[in-house]
Amino acid sequence: MTGTDTRSAAPAISIRGLHKSFGPVEVLKGIDLDVPGEVVCVIGPSGSGKSTLLRCVNLLETPTSGKVFVGRDEMTDPDCDLDRVRRRIGMVFQSFNLFAHLNVLRNLTIAQIKVLRRSRTEAEAIARRTLDRVGLAGRETAFPAQLSGGQQQRVAIARSLAMSPELMLFDEPTSALDPELVGEVLAVMRGLAAEGMTMMVVTHEMAFARDVADRVVFMDGGVVVEQGPPEQVIGDPQQERTRAFLSRVL
Ligand code: ADP
Ligand code: MG
Repeated sequence: MTGTDTRSAAPAISIRGLHKSFGPVEVLKGIDLDVPGEVVCVIGPSGSGKSTLLRCVNLLETPTSGKVFVGRDEMTDPDCDLDRVRRRIGMVFQSFNLFAHLNVLRNLTIAQIKVLRRSRTEAEAIARRTLDRVGLAGRETAFPAQLSGGQQQRVAIARSLAMSPELMLFDEPTSALDPELVGEVLAVMRGLAAEGMTMMVVTHEMAFARDVADRVVFMDGGVVVEQGPPEQVIGDPQQERTRAFLSRVL
């Protein structure tokens, strides 16, 4: 991969004809979606396939058919070096999944050292800078259980960022949080978006989607029902299913 010109030619994520079944149940029924270098929010009712779609992007779920590209790499090509491509993708889940027995600093350095082969000194310097970015400078020696849910989720985001990802996937990152802790996590994500991070965000936070997303994708029943700028999909939805969903959540 050479200069930015060639890289910008391919969308960060490109999904073509994606189907996913679990046994006899088809959960994704033919998804076509591009994520250029921007923020895409995926909304839709519970069970519509949002998490499955996100997990298919880094092949945590194996698609039944269809293609997934990350940049120019086809994840669904049997010859694809999945680990190498996954290193370029950060993922943050609803549950924070921190290492409970490691302090915050070690949570941020362990994969940098083991996967990226950074020196401890470099990994710690990057960890400290990244903690500062998520507003947690000075909490290096805390253990996850000593932190609030909002702080833990910010550590989880920092841990992903410390791996220098090209793009970030978020699956309902604020859904497990007490309402008063949601704002601090969304603020970090707004900051990332403002810095130009490519992000695919599954969320129920409609205000976030409206303000931050370049594009909103509404899913229902395993298909993309409608997608476009937030002013259109949230502000002036064209499809009845989108209107019905929004009337329940807004
Ligand atoms: P969402 O994130 O939109 O709530 P999911 O992608 O989690 O939706 O789930 C979509 C559907 O796929 C649901 O009916 C769910 O029960 C089913 N599903 C998800 N993961 C599995 C799995 N590993 N095995 C069987 N069914 C699954
Ligand atoms: Mg989900």
